[in-house]
Amino acid sequence: MKKIFSLFLCLTCLSFSDNPLSEDEKSALQSIQVNTLKAHLTFLQDDLMEGREAGERGNLIAANYIAGEFEKLGLIPKGDGGSYFQSVKLVSAHIQPETKLTLNAKKPVQFAFDSDFLLYNYPQTDTVIKKELVFARYGITAPEYNYDDFKDLDVKDKIVVIFAGEPISADSGFFMGNKNSKYALLSHKSKAIKRLGAAGALVLATPEHAGSYKFLSNYLGHRTVSLNRDYVHSNSENSDFVFPVLNPDASKQFAENIGWKFDEVAVSLTKQKTGTIKNATVEITVKSNRRYFDSPNVVGLLEGSDPELTKEYVILSAHFDHIGITKPVDGDSINNGATDNASGTSALLNAAEAFAKLKIKPKRSILLVACTAEEKGLLGSKFYAENPTIDLSKAIANINMDVIGFATSEKVSSITLVGDDYTTLGATMQKWARFVGLTPLPDLFPEQNFFQRSDNYNFSVKGVPSISPGAGTESKADFDVYLKYYHKPSDQLGKVPFSFNVLRLQAQCIFLSALDVANAQEKPKWLKKL
Ligand SMILES: [Zn+2]
Repeated sequence: MKKIFSLFLCLTCLSFSDNPLSEDEKSALQSIQVNTLKAHLTFLQDDLMEGREAGERGNLIAANYIAGEFEKLGLIPKGDGGSYFQSVKLVSAHIQPETKLTLNAKKPVQFAFDSDFLLYNYPQTDTVIKKELVFARYGITAPEYNYDDFKDLDVKDKIVVIFAGEPISADSGFFMGNKNSKYALLSHKSKAIKRLGAAGALVLATPEHAGSYKFLSNYLGHRTVSLNRDYVHSNSENSDFVFPVLNPDASKQFAENIGWKFDEVAVSLTKQKTGTIKNATVEITVKSNRRYFDSPNVVGLLEGSDPELTKEYVILSAHFDHIGITKPVDGDSINNGATDNASGTSALLNAAEAFAKLKIKPKRSILLVACTAEEKGLLGSKFYAENPTIDLSKAIANINMDVIGFATSEKVSSITLVGDDYTTLGATMQKWARFVGLTPLPDLFPEQNFFQRSDNYNFSVKGVPSISPGAGTESKADFDVYLKYYHKPSDQLGKVPFSFNVLRLQAQCIFLSALDVANAQEKPKWLKKL
């Protein structure tokens, strides 16, 4: 098997031994250089940008920098009112310490926000919610697996008590075996349970979920931001939907106070009976401070050269925002976001320059979208996908750049193609990765749901085939190194392991892939459902 594989690799190399690029394309490709990438990245990740948080000054400076570059390259403004800026309407809510959760069972037990539980969703108006409880195992309805935790269950106006995760199975045909399916995602559970008319859901986490809980805690913090539209929406339709997630210790305490043997229930969940939890109610007090603000996406267009195909688009995207200023770590409180995602933004700008350099422009148009508020839950791209400034049904592909250039050593020579199995964009990018001398890697950590965790997802939800090339994390060890810098002030040039040469090759691969797709006769195709 191995032999066949290496033979195949050789054949693939051979077919590219004669350079398939025109002189024009070769010279455009050469404009993707270490110096250019370094100039963009050094500026964008500087302390002066104050971590580029959506709604903050540093984010606006970065947005202006990007717009200036777009202008220099002669891109057509595709934001609001003939500008490069599309104003994304946001609302942020800062949860106050009065927020608490009380279980009234054998005796009242109080849980404190932050130390005992987080809020994944909560009402945007201050409120006290007192409800009955109903138990629904994992809180999943999955027709394709013939699985339903809500069968014959009335959850209307109740709080549904569920466990984190999904049914565990060695069978890859059942909830994707030991990988996580979409049903394990809190976002999926939250939407599905809302639709059933429940007042909310309360998630219990077992010690196995301690890592995910910590991740969620970093991600949510005390503040959540949503699109302003969601605010209006949630007030009119789901005014009281609340979705607390208890940490493993609090979960055990909660379970034992309603009379469960927590450890026993947790391991035999699919065998447990669903239904009303007798003699128990919860009371959840939510108090938050809200602020309304705007933050810009930066959007520019390079028109295609074919009179017909110019009406179709290849979208290149990268988020330029990051998480701003947080609690100091070793005396540093500015999250520079060098890899996340000054790296992708630099590649976006340099790829735009390469496209602008082409004497013969690609047949289809190239739309460049620098997204804001990705770190708030992919909000800038969500807003763009819902309020596009081009005909999105004519967008044939999205290549999204998020965290590239990270490299544990100069020997790294790979690119991770997150989502390479969803569409034929996978094969296209694999081809150009090999062409520039990179090894294309599949997503080695599907349980991390990377495909759903960056801006490409919002385009794919609208039917646009998308792919999200990322740093070549070649092993679990590489990934563990990255986690030491992820969303920390140490994600800064000079601290985070980084290679500008790898970034250059990755940016070249992205440019060539986009160029190929923009000129190809056939449009990318979906290979499997989202
Ligand atoms: Zn990112």
